[in-house]
Amino acid sequence: MFDYNYFRDFIAKLMKTSPAPLQLELQPGEGCGGYNCGFCYGYNQRLTSGKDLSLKDYYALLDDLKGRVGLITMAGIKSDPLNNKNTYQIIKRLKENGLRLGIHTKGFLLNKHLADLLNTNTAYGDFITISVDASDSAVYNSLHGLPKGGRFFGRVIENVKYLYARKKKARSGLNVNVSYLLFKQNSSMEQMERFVRIFGEACDTIRFSPPQLPNKVDSRPDYYLDSLTQVRKTVNHLRRKYHDKKIVFLDIEDSSHTTDFKYCYMQRFLAVIDSRGWVYPCPQITTEKFKPIAYGNIRNKGFWEIWDSKRRKRTLDMEVERLGCRICDRKDEALNMEFGRIFKNERIS
Ligand code: SF4
Repeated sequence: MFDYNYFRDFIAKLMKTSPAPLQLELQPGEGCGGYNCGFCYGYNQRLTSGKDLSLKDYYALLDDLKGRVGLITMAGIKSDPLNNKNTYQIIKRLKENGLRLGIHTKGFLLNKHLADLLNTNTAYGDFITISVDASDSAVYNSLHGLPKGGRFFGRVIENVKYLYARKKKARSGLNVNVSYLLFKQNSSMEQMERFVRIFGEACDTIRFSPPQLPNKVDSRPDYYLDSLTQVRKTVNHLRRKYHDKKIVFLDIEDSSHTTDFKYCYMQRFLAVIDSRGWVYPCPQITTEKFKPIAYGNIRNKGFWEIWDSKRRKRTLDMEVERLGCRICDRKDEALNMEFGRIFKNERIS
């Protein structure tokens, strides 16, 4: 039976003809600056080896992207994007080129110069999300694998407060979010409320969420919450009590995490460049293990040549089982499953 669907056809056209990634992620961090979080998706993984991209490489890339890519994000697995000696110049060039920017960081390296820069020329939608995950120093150090007694938490608070005060003063459009992953160790009412009190006046949004489970794990790590029932109640209580604050709860269980889908549709919207210049299809797989499915390296070819390459097009058409990755982040996983439903798990090219 002829089964035509305008919506499916329209989305497929958009995907097939898209001339650029909707989002390009830079992962410029050269490690995590001493952090060693047990819950990191990159824990125990090996990042690619080789020479880091130079500032000249970044300038060439950002000039190439000017006017062609909607959003640049800076993030990383097993790395903090601010942990690069050229971070300031990279962000400055990005802004001079009119590119929208979103950053995911621990915030420890967010110094005053960066905070001032981030609050200038903010394009609509610029954002920064600072993962804090604790409301006192002892838990902060323990969760992040930092030395006991080290002064990390206090500095993160100072950095976030400075950033937000600059935002207010400059009336910039930067959205400042602080996030808090919920574990057994940090999810009591007292701990979560203290977090709201510390950061409530220093950000636009507070986000609580359970961490994503590592893909297809047999059992969840014992520091993960067994259930979200109690934290749901706590967040609702905090929302009522602090009703003038924007408190968000990403209420997601990982029930779909073992569901398979045949093709990765999300690759069509994304490109990720690691600190050595390798271009990957998504943010979770920028490691040595998945280098065979990287599209190429911007040291050898321009980004657009890689984006339009036969090699990338071949990869788009490969089944996920053959790619061997399937460690998508939550958003890409949810969208891949939804696209799989719309396209009946068929290839679209
Ligand atoms: S990990 Fe998931 S989103 Fe990333 S390339 Fe593989 S299937 Fe696609």
